[in-house]
Amino acid sequence: MLKKIEQVLHAAGVPTGPIDQYLAALYARIAQINDGSVATYIPELAKVDPGLFGIAIATVDGKVYTAGDSEHEFTIQSISKAFIYGHVLDQYGREAVLKHVGVEPTGEAFNSIVLDEVANRPFNPMVNSGAMAAAEIIKGETTEERIANMLDVLSRYAGRSLSVDEDVFRSEQATGHRNRAIAYMMLNSGMIHSSPESILDIYFRQCAVKVTCRDLALMAASLANDGINPKTGATALPRDYVHDVLTVMNSCGMYNFAGQWSYEVGMPAKSGVGGGIIAVIPGQVGIGVFSPPLDRHGHSVRGVRVCREISETFGLHVFRNHTYTGTVVRRELYGNVVRSKRLRTAEERKVLDEQGAKICLIEVQGGLFFGSAERLLRRIDELAAEAEYLILDLRRVHEVDQAARRLIMELIDWLAERKRRLLFTHVTTEGPLAPLHAMLKERFGNLSEVLFEHRDTALEWCEKQLITNASIGRDLTKFSLGALRVFNGLTSDELKIIETAVRPLVFEKGQTIVKEGDEARLFFVIARGTATVSLRIRKDDEERVVRVASLGPGLSFGEMALLDGGKRSADVIADERVVCYGFSVEHLREIGRQHPHVFTVILGNMMRDFSERLRHANDEIRALEG
Ligand code: GLN
Repeated sequence: MLKKIEQVLHAAGVPTGPIDQYLAALYARIAQINDGSVATYIPELAKVDPGLFGIAIATVDGKVYTAGDSEHEFTIQSISKAFIYGHVLDQYGREAVLKHVGVEPTGEAFNSIVLDEVANRPFNPMVNSGAMAAAEIIKGETTEERIANMLDVLSRYAGRSLSVDEDVFRSEQATGHRNRAIAYMMLNSGMIHSSPESILDIYFRQCAVKVTCRDLALMAASLANDGINPKTGATALPRDYVHDVLTVMNSCGMYNFAGQWSYEVGMPAKSGVGGGIIAVIPGQVGIGVFSPPLDRHGHSVRGVRVCREISETFGLHVFRNHTYTGTVVRRELYGNVVRSKRLRTAEERKVLDEQGAKICLIEVQGGLFFGSAERLLRRIDELAAEAEYLILDLRRVHEVDQAARRLIMELIDWLAERKRRLLFTHVTTEGPLAPLHAMLKERFGNLSEVLFEHRDTALEWCEKQLITNASIGRDLTKFSLGALRVFNGLTSDELKIIETAVRPLVFEKGQTIVKEGDEARLFFVIARGTATVSLRIRKDDEERVVRVASLGPGLSFGEMALLDGGKRSADVIADERVVCYGFSVEHLREIGRQHPHVFTVILGNMMRDFSERLRHANDEIRALEG
């Protein structure tokens, strides 16, 4: 409904958002300019209404903003050259195409007859001679097939089926003798090999393809979007050739105005004598403008002004730096302060308090490319002086490009020599970090000690290494009750009384030890194995399980029941075979009634444990918020 209203408002020329509003104002301002004159050397083009004027901007995710006559069809003319050049690159490869046409600017007009006689090829594919050399090698058995291929290429960029304006085609075919002369000169010097007429048949048609300004914006946006049409998702040009096309557009697309254009506007661009211009801001947007009156270089007067204003207003010159590499490290956290959700015994906690700083968790953010990856590497190198376990939390990283992946591989080797471990989180087989995953897989084979789903599991793994190295991970199957923190301070006689309340229990992997909501009858101490405490969170009929803690040998759980006699507040599930001791709450209460001192000691121990955990939680919050 809202969309409908927007469409109606938009059709009536009413801006429906800040960008539309900007475009409407820009349109109104530039519409005042009445310089230039329409191309007449192709008689059919002279018939156009010089007052037509449209602007369109398409984003790399397919949103198109328009103003004015953005749906009016006109002929694409020389703008087609950029796309056809990309097509032949894709068909033949860079090296082969360079034999047919160079990449040097001419400093001459689009229809110049100057040719590169040293290399025996036209200077570049943006001037007519070079475009004809490219048109010659469009593949196809017959002329029809070649025309169909040419139309197919342009249509993929536009995201709709395009066709030729037969009147404009015939008009140019009948009068385009200068192009004919150029073709014959090229034939004479062996720069082309087929008959000039057959090449012109394709070339004039390619110039006469009908587009709208909206089409042009989407075509430009496809180049901005690594060759993928943002609306249809179709590949218009393989990514590897996109920068070739943009480079040549940048140096040659505006002919003998290319230098000044590049200086003032700074966007790879291409114009056509039909009055169209495209400009590309890589990774961001494509611009299409249409206004027939041309300047002396053959560029739309209003089109040039529109691009210049958009560039200036939004600072879009391609050589303006948009990437700041300094913010790549979001936060650094240490294992003595930030802990995994694994609950630890007092001894384990002591190890982590003393040695936890050997674990450093680095939250990385943004995109990793050469500059930002280098920054990150340099920081990791500094951190590795102290830290032995370095966890790269890549949750906020949306890209790790080829250069960054290469640098990360170098880093892994460098750290391995220094006996440092590098761990990663959030690197999955699918999504933007998939190439990094593939590279790590190739390097390590088994990724179980390299990649972790999230930071908690990575932290837990590192903590385990520290604890094991401190050799306190002893077998607790035969622990004495007195060694348990909850029973600290009881005399041996008192412990004997406690023993009467104990029941040994075994749970298999995946088995529920405690279920949320159940009556709490036992409290447990784990002797062997680990278990996970999780909460089931229900929202809109959907249930999500959140892991809140994990427990290992020597740790107790379910003791809250002893305090409040209430119901279970969470699920506890065995991660593997778990051996534990269950203490009957009922029985312990009974003991408490007869031996109040025993109960006081137990409660005191529990309080101490709770307050320790609370203090630690405070420290952690301080570290995370700081
Ligand atoms: N078809 C036109 C020509 O060859 C294209 C020139 C242009 O748009 N600059 O003259």
